[in-house]
Amino acid sequence: EFNLAGRSTFLRIDLDAILHNIKTLRSRCASHTDVIAVIKGNAYGHGSVALARYLYSNGVQHFAVASAVEGQELRQAGVQGFIQVFGNCVEEEIAVMRQYQMTPTVTSEAFLKQWALWPAPVQIPLPAVAIKVDSGMSRNGCQSEELPGIIKLCDDLGVPIHSLMSHFAQSWDDDKFTQQQLDTFLAAVKPYRNRGIKLHAANSAAIIRGVATDLDFIRPGICLYGLAPDSTKKTAQIIEDFGLRPALCWVAHPSMVKRLLPGRHVGYDQTYVLDNEETIATFSLGYADGYNRLLSGKGILTDMDGEEQRLVGRVSMDAITVVVKDDTTIETPFYIYTSDYTSPNSVTGMARTIGTIPYEVGTSLSTRLPRLYV
Ligand code: PLP
Repeated sequence: EFNLAGRSTFLRIDLDAILHNIKTLRSRCASHTDVIAVIKGNAYGHGSVALARYLYSNGVQHFAVASAVEGQELRQAGVQGFIQVFGNCVEEEIAVMRQYQMTPTVTSEAFLKQWALWPAPVQIPLPAVAIKVDSGMSRNGCQSEELPGIIKLCDDLGVPIHSLMSHFAQSWDDDKFTQQQLDTFLAAVKPYRNRGIKLHAANSAAIIRGVATDLDFIRPGICLYGLAPDSTKKTAQIIEDFGLRPALCWVAHPSMVKRLLPGRHVGYDQTYVLDNEETIATFSLGYADGYNRLLSGKGILTDMDGEEQRLVGRVSMDAITVVVKDDTTIETPFYIYTSDYTSPNSVTGMARTIGTIPYEVGTSLSTRLPRLYV
């Protein structure tokens, strides 16, 4: 499996696990509830084009990305279906979204006018829009009291409305605030419910906690990939018990193995000095691949038997150094990241070590890493 794209390392992505996760998440929702697969950030590092193609051919028809350019990449790769662009969409994105038939997230009358009045060639239809209500996160979305004006403007300008949506700020930790947000959203959209406009609000954490899982869509991101919304062991256990499966592992073999004598320094800034003779393996991957530099001296690799080996010295842009067993050769494969919830070098474990969340560990995985889909 090595020698993928000329490198000694690759990500292995189990597409079946992602489909399994979608089915598992949907099984906890109302029977009419469909899924918008959130594949922004290069599908949280898993590779959005390959994933969208696979999901579309397995019946998933709705996708969401973070920018028009992310959607353009999908369309140019032949991805069909509904593609929503999240955020507060901006004027600069309109030409691409209209040309490639995406659904913008509308959050102001000003943008809606620009969207409707963009001088499209006659053969380009006007895609429907999603309107986002800010129910308390204060980031993206219109205020509840602005919604009637935006909907009236859609009607006046002949802009079809696909859906009304909101997003939760605290869906994992604070049920009360989440419920308040949901109440705010449902109150704002109540007058329009008889118009057949779809509604959606639930992200992964809300789905796991059973909030807003009876609307028309759920919008899972992190849990699609079998990852947890935070890096605690407790949350990882909840996700595992829910029946989700991590889809990604990162594999590499060393590019060099050497025996070094006591007193030798390893890596930039000489942060590691050998006290004893040791076998040190260099792997040709680094922070330019998404292996966080904060893992310097803290990272763990595992061999195929699950035995841990520790990183020493700084993480470089294109190399890491690891103390390995004496019988290691450049053919010995290692897990940089494992696909489970408990290993220190699982995505969750790595996030915990550097004080971040699995989202960041996933989305940091560089596009220069080869991805093997199985
Ligand atoms: N919906 C919106 C509007 C989002 O911005 C995101 C991600 O940030 C999601 C859904 C998916 O969230 P999660 O990855 O927590 O499931």
